[in-house]
Amino acid sequence: MNYVSTRGKSVPCSPAEAIKNGLAEDGGLYLPEEIPLLSSDELKELCEEDYPTRAAKILYKFLSDDYAYEELLSDCREAYREEAFPGGAAPVRKLGDKIRVLELWHGPTAAFKDMALQIMPRLFVRAVRKTGDSRRAKILVATSGDTGKAALEGYRDIPGVSIDVFYPVDGVSRVQKLQMATQEGENVGVYSVVGNFDDAQNGVKRIFGDRELGEELNRRGVFLSSANSINWGRLVPQVAYYVSAYCDLVKDGDIALFEEINVCVPTGNFGNILAAYLAKMMGLPIRGFVCASNRNSVLTDFFETGTYDRRREFYTTTSPSMDILISSNLERLLYLVAGAEKTVDFMKKLTEDGCYTVPAEIREELDRSFFGACCGEEQTREEIRKLFDIYRYLSDTHTAVGLFCAEKYLEKMDGGRKLLSVSTASPYKFAPAVYFALTGESPENELDAMELLKEYSGEPIPSPLSGVVKKKIRFDPAKAIQAEKMKEIVLRGAE
Ligand SMILES: *Cc1c(COP(=O)(O)O)cnc(C)c1O
Repeated sequence: MNYVSTRGKSVPCSPAEAIKNGLAEDGGLYLPEEIPLLSSDELKELCEEDYPTRAAKILYKFLSDDYAYEELLSDCREAYREEAFPGGAAPVRKLGDKIRVLELWHGPTAAFKDMALQIMPRLFVRAVRKTGDSRRAKILVATSGDTGKAALEGYRDIPGVSIDVFYPVDGVSRVQKLQMATQEGENVGVYSVVGNFDDAQNGVKRIFGDRELGEELNRRGVFLSSANSINWGRLVPQVAYYVSAYCDLVKDGDIALFEEINVCVPTGNFGNILAAYLAKMMGLPIRGFVCASNRNSVLTDFFETGTYDRRREFYTTTSPSMDILISSNLERLLYLVAGAEKTVDFMKKLTEDGCYTVPAEIREELDRSFFGACCGEEQTREEIRKLFDIYRYLSDTHTAVGLFCAEKYLEKMDGGRKLLSVSTASPYKFAPAVYFALTGESPENELDAMELLKEYSGEPIPSPLSGVVKKKIRFDPAKAIQAEKMKEIVLRGAE
């Protein structure tokens, strides 16, 4: 099965090439030429399997041209091992009659990005070898929070790769900083950069754009790559947990096999919800999707009006991983419903005018599957309180945005079906905001907030977060570098 670009101008390539390249040559994103189907028998069989086997079988559907099933199974067994995901990779919890919560934060960094970033490095390294490339890869990441740590944990001690992560010295939370400063592994570098996220991000972009540097690295047998959420290798593992959650609901007798459910996803870059849409295209019985946004409601407006307009104020919220005005992976949905030619038009308009409008027939097609909803800051706090009062369910801010929108949908649209709502982070990852929502108090120290939240709720702190204060600092956050130094650091690390 070949992979094509959403902009239709790149030569189709194999899955390994798509994973190695990241972005297609014409600037588009990769998708398989056809979405593979999951037969009724296959779905039934998957219900009897454990998580790594379910994931390997779904991955094999998309990647079998280059990857052997045994390779994928062995990678999935390592990625989703009990030690990394204690108690299972993607457990489903019950909230009342209708709502089920798919918890995706039981991995090494307590946020859902682990689900993709624990397996993607393994797929990537194999992709490099399978395309006949013997060079070593250096992964560069600029991060404002969750992605950096998840990428570090995913790439640490993977042979043939090294990773450098740059974060703004004043732009990440205290816990996130500690998580990165104490990172273990022989092939990792972590640097705090003077300035804000844009300074770190621009530094990384300059390095990717520096041809001389690229040639020098090439002479040393090294090439640069990113761990971006637009890479197919990050998206495809996410399809698996929707299939797995469905199987768990069947196994628990909560739904009948082939009964339709709805899915709600707290959305930023549109990767997670697109993976759910791909699962539906494969044949998983999903009826509709709730696209949940915070106060940055660009997607809600898009699904309501058919116009995507990024020309608006950007709000910093308590669900920072969803503070986004350009949702990159939406391009893949546009391609799937409208084709390459129209997608090129929309993306051109987005770059030039900051907005585009889809024609009526495309809007109707989107309407058949998608419902956009958003949740403000006060509503997020109320939702956190309500979930704890009614269900004793401790929810993080992103998860609460999702559950608020899920309830809105149930009231308005389709109260009949079970609704699977995705939980993307441990409440302890955003402890100050969650504690404030519950008590109206703001502890001065973020680490105190974790302890106070534990006393208040009785829920255990995930060990990767509770252990972080005791770990040795390997990369001193106080020794911030100037952005101009980043190039030197990358070169030095490639000797
Ligand atoms: C990245 C992230 C999201 C958004 O996911 P997308 O795939 O970008 O839509 C939501 N919640 C948390 C906690 C995240 O880290």
